[in-house]
Amino acid sequence: MSGERTVRTACPYCGVGCGLKATVAGGRLLRVEGDEEHPVNRGRTCAKPIHLPSAVHARDRATVPQRRDVPDGPWRDVSWDEGIGWAAERLRSIIAEHGPESVAFYVSGQLMTEDYYVVNKLAKGFIGTNSVDSNSRLCMSSAVAGYKATFGSDGPLPSYDDLDESDCILLLGSNTAACHPIVWSRIKAAREREGRPCQVIVVDPRRTATAAEADLHLPVRPGGDVPLLLGMLHVIVRDGLTDERYLEDHTEGWDELRAQVDEWPPERAADVSGVDAALIEDAAHRFATAGAAMTCWTMGANQSTAGTDKNRALHALCLVTGQLGRPGAGPLSLTGQPNAMGGREVGGLAGLLPGYRNAASAEDRETVNTFWRLPPTAAGVSERPGLVATDLVDALHDGTVKAVWIMATNPAVSLPDSAKVHEALRRAELVVVQDAYHPTETTAFADLVLPAAAWPEKAGTTTSSERRVTLMRKAIDPPGEALPDWRILARLAAALGWEEQFAWPDAAAVHAEFVALTAGRVCDQTGLSHGRLGRDGSVRWPFTAADAERADRLRRRAALTDDLSPEVLRADAEAPDRAHHSPRLHADHVFPTSSGRARLGALSVDGVAETPDDEHPLILTTGRVGGQWHTMTRTAKAAELRAADPEPFVELHPDDAARSGVTDGERVRLVSRRGEVVVRARVDGDIRPGVAFAPFHWGLLHARPGDGQLNALSHDATDPVSRQPELKAMAVRVEALVAAVPGPRERRSPGGAVDPTGGAATGGA
Ligand code: SF4
Repeated sequence: MSGERTVRTACPYCGVGCGLKATVAGGRLLRVEGDEEHPVNRGRTCAKPIHLPSAVHARDRATVPQRRDVPDGPWRDVSWDEGIGWAAERLRSIIAEHGPESVAFYVSGQLMTEDYYVVNKLAKGFIGTNSVDSNSRLCMSSAVAGYKATFGSDGPLPSYDDLDESDCILLLGSNTAACHPIVWSRIKAAREREGRPCQVIVVDPRRTATAAEADLHLPVRPGGDVPLLLGMLHVIVRDGLTDERYLEDHTEGWDELRAQVDEWPPERAADVSGVDAALIEDAAHRFATAGAAMTCWTMGANQSTAGTDKNRALHALCLVTGQLGRPGAGPLSLTGQPNAMGGREVGGLAGLLPGYRNAASAEDRETVNTFWRLPPTAAGVSERPGLVATDLVDALHDGTVKAVWIMATNPAVSLPDSAKVHEALRRAELVVVQDAYHPTETTAFADLVLPAAAWPEKAGTTTSSERRVTLMRKAIDPPGEALPDWRILARLAAALGWEEQFAWPDAAAVHAEFVALTAGRVCDQTGLSHGRLGRDGSVRWPFTAADAERADRLRRRAALTDDLSPEVLRADAEAPDRAHHSPRLHADHVFPTSSGRARLGALSVDGVAETPDDEHPLILTTGRVGGQWHTMTRTAKAAELRAADPEPFVELHPDDAARSGVTDGERVRLVSRRGEVVVRARVDGDIRPGVAFAPFHWGLLHARPGDGQLNALSHDATDPVSRQPELKAMAVRVEALVAAVPGPRERRSPGGAVDPTGGAATGGA
């Protein structure tokens, strides 16, 4: 097509952070392919981004602000000035009557760092509410809490380069092959390495695509992960495989953990975890005797009432065996969303402030307030903690929070206990939704919908699981009147009286302000700018201003030798100072704790919050399928992606299916203590008896009418530290949905009336 041009960018789906090339012409996105120059994926992609054109140009894109006067009333188009002006007036009046903490923002790991920064500055610094929580609460907050507990700060230690170098990778609660396919392709390459194949151990209740290819599969019972890891640690201690020198020089708290480990011989661990003692021994030996070993995990560890301690146990496995800070070693949390990491850096969870700071710290509050040069009308960062996602739902329920501003996420589908969430949104006095799509299940509760630009209609940065920052360039204009999220917030700030403090000319200026707040922090990015990222490609942090100067010196030297190849420039930019800018964080083994040592300690062995009983005998665990993303607002637009999994389903072990009178392929009802949903049964032996699995993607707009959505079943119990909900374990029963064959006392009379001698017929499809 004439006028085509190709723009380098990054994938807007998962946290792997692959580089993409978007080809556009005439204001339309024509095709998407992998960027062969991006170091993460080298031209490869999974299926999802290939189908982005159908999502970007979908008919349900929000194109103009819309408001309505009564819940469920008709929408009418309004101008930006009217929409934002109305919302600002409503917020002003709610704050005047109920205080700033009656206002909350619920945001998303889909946002770019610039969007995230502006919402935090506005809400925490100017309005004075720390209730800015993100849907990353549902996927990564246990990883944040775990890294802080063990290493003193958030921030993944290894990088993807280590996957290439590792001799043994233990994956816990991660179906990497389906959900992080490019990471899996690197692990597979390590497995196929000539002469030194990497061993892969998978801990998962299901024999997933990942487990099927592993060297060892440990089919753990939900809630049994920490006991299993304690059993592995017991074997490592018992068989003299600990790295005593590392423990002595770089850790504290080993005595406390070791006393607990002594209590968990593999036989006891087997009883609780459901994994054979011999498999636990085997896994421990493989991990502890590997030249270089890593632990990797995702939602299966994080979405748990013991999520923080599962993370700490995975760190402990590395620390006890000295597997840190060298090629192929260390604990690497795999993030779910494209910018969950950037959100953490910018303070995008309740309780956080930009630059890995904490709202609970007076010093951090002072630093941020001073940096923001708050005018007298701004409230300043409050010392009162903000509300995490599930507490926000409770606060909307009881009326403590009156207004919620939702950005780029669909909590009406994704938060646990849907009925409670829907009622909470119904009770709110003001619901504003900023989204690229309308209607969604969440805009059904909104008073005002503001159209947001989507990828690739705006510029900004994202950080991947390995701390790599990539610039997403704008390739086309957004449809209609849609605006980048940060610009919508800047308009709101101006309407609230703070135009000057939010008057950035472009996203690059927002980014420059944010990185200045990272100076001297673990996540120092003061050497990064949109200009540098555009010129040099993606860069892992830390990347300081001094790193940038050195990179520029090396570039000038390369220019003198006429060597301007992309490889030389990228190598220079990524390794300007090996002593500091390592592919590994804390490679000097000095951690940002008060003692400089990594912290070990006793771990919680509590199981799941909701245990099965006679009425709800199965544990349902939830997750994703490879072709869909979150609540399907984008991926459902592609027929090719829908084809693999055209409808919601539940996987059941044949024994459980037989006990429930259910056969493969029939529609069944899943019932929990909170609600029910109708899905298709898939009966196979790849799942543990007593455990069921269902994906959460299908909300009310994508399921069959009346079938309901999966989070109608889930509960809102959370980890006590990370406050991440336990979306991976709820007690359910499965019921056959076909009309039951009436028994002799239930036969209907020929006219269809119920025989007076029997009860009513049951069932009904
Ligand atoms: Fe995008 Fe993740 Fe697939 Fe890479 S692995 S192409 S980042 S969805």
